[in-house]
Amino acid sequence: MVNKRVTCSGCSLLCDDIIISTDGLYIDEVIGACLKGKERFDRVSAKNRIFNPYIKKNGELIKTTLEEAFEQVFKIIKNSTKPLLYGFSTVSCEAQLKGMELACLINGFIDSNSTICQGKVLNTSKETGLTLTTIGEAINKSDLLILWGANAAESIPRLLNKVLFSRGKFRMTGREIKTLIIIDPIKTASFNVMGVRDVALQIEPAKDIDLIRVLKDECCRVNSFPDEGVAGIDKNDLKRLLLHLTGTENGIIFIGQGILNAQNGNSVIKEMLELIQLINAKHEKGRISAFMLGGHYNMWGFDHVALSNYGINHSLQFTNQQLTETSDTIISKIEKDDFDCSIIVGTDPISHFPKQLSKKLISKPLILIDNTKTATFHIADVIIPSTLTGIETDGLAYRIDHIPLNLEKIINPPKNILSDEEIIKKIIRNLKQG
Ligand code: SF4
Repeated sequence: MVNKRVTCSGCSLLCDDIIISTDGLYIDEVIGACLKGKERFDRVSAKNRIFNPYIKKNGELIKTTLEEAFEQVFKIIKNSTKPLLYGFSTVSCEAQLKGMELACLINGFIDSNSTICQGKVLNTSKETGLTLTTIGEAINKSDLLILWGANAAESIPRLLNKVLFSRGKFRMTGREIKTLIIIDPIKTASFNVMGVRDVALQIEPAKDIDLIRVLKDECCRVNSFPDEGVAGIDKNDLKRLLLHLTGTENGIIFIGQGILNAQNGNSVIKEMLELIQLINAKHEKGRISAFMLGGHYNMWGFDHVALSNYGINHSLQFTNQQLTETSDTIISKIEKDDFDCSIIVGTDPISHFPKQLSKKLISKPLILIDNTKTATFHIADVIIPSTLTGIETDGLAYRIDHIPLNLEKIINPPKNILSDEEIIKKIIRNLKQG
C-alpha cells in the first residue's frame, strides 16, 4: 500500500488535498474528503456502477458486447441527420474536445449542462463585464462572503471550510474578520455555520431582483430605501447589507442555483452583475467579485474548450462540418423537436429536465455514455460504460474558479471499460472509415 495525495472529482471544488491509500488495484482508504467526495471514490465498485454495455431489444435493456453496442451506435448515428450531443460536464477536457469533433463530423448540435446553469452568468457578463476571483484569493484575502441563493454547505461541501474558516496567508486572524451574509428564501444547511456577526436575510421567493434594484438605486441616490423595506427585508437590514457591500476590502458574492432558477427569470443575473460593477466603480479601496457556484466537476471545462477552439462557449451547431450561427440551446432544440437522436455523455437529463422535455428526448433513439445507472440509463437505447475520470483515467478539468488542474489516474479501470475520450475517439474513427 502507498499513500498518495490526489485531487477529488466529486464536485467542482476539485480539492487537491485528499490522501488515499492504494495498492494500484484498489483504493483502500480515503482521508480528507467530504461525504460527497468519499462517495465519488466509492463509485469504483458501487452497486449502481455500469460495468457492461447494454442495448435495448424488444423494449428491454440487455447486456451485450462492446462490439455490438458500438455497431448499434453507428447505426443510430448513420440514420441521423440532426443528432444532439449533451452533457460533458463530468468528463475531461480531452473528452469534451473529442465530443465537439464528433459533433462537427456528424453535423450535430452540442451543448453542456453549463447552458442551463452558471453558463447563463458567463453569457450575461459579455454585456456587463464580470469581476472574478479565485479560491486562493477567497482563502487569503476575503473579508465578506455572501451566499446568494447558494447552499454551499451541501452543494460544494468543503467550500466554506476553505474560504470561511481559514486564516489565509496574510492575516493573523481568520473567521473573526470574515463576515458571512446569506440571502435565501429557504433556511438551508448553510445557515448553520453562521456566527454572531453574520447576517441572515430570508428573502421572499423570486424577489431577488427587487432587492438588487433597491441596492442599485441606493448606490446612485442615497436615502432611497423604502421605509417598509423590500422583498421581506427591513430597512435596517438593507442598510447593513449595503454597508457591508460598500465597506468590504475583498468581498465575494457566491451566485447559487437559487438565483438562476426559472422563477427569477434571466434579467436578475444582469442586474446582479450590474450591481457588482456599480459598487466596484464607487469603491475606493476594495472590490466585490462574483463566484459562480456550479456543481459538476468539469462544467467550466466545456466552456473553455469550446471558447478556445470554436470562439463560443456553448451551444455549438455544425452544418456541412462547419460551425454555424445559432440562437438555439439544448432546451430550445428539444422543445422544437429539432433532433432525431441524442448522444448523452455523463449526465442524467431524464431526472433533471422537465417532464415534457424528457418525453421528447425519450421519443428518439438515445445513446448513453456514462458510468452510473441513472434514470437516463433505464430509457437509453444503447449504453457504453465509461471509466471514472480522476480515478481510473487522467485528464484536465477546470476548477470552480476557472483554474485548470490535472486529474490523475489512480487505479486501473475494470476490464473492457474505456474512457469517455477513447469511446468518442473510437466512434469518430469508425465513422471516418465508413
Ligand atoms: S468538496 Fe467536492 S472536491 Fe472537495 S472533497 Fe468534497 S466532493 Fe471532493
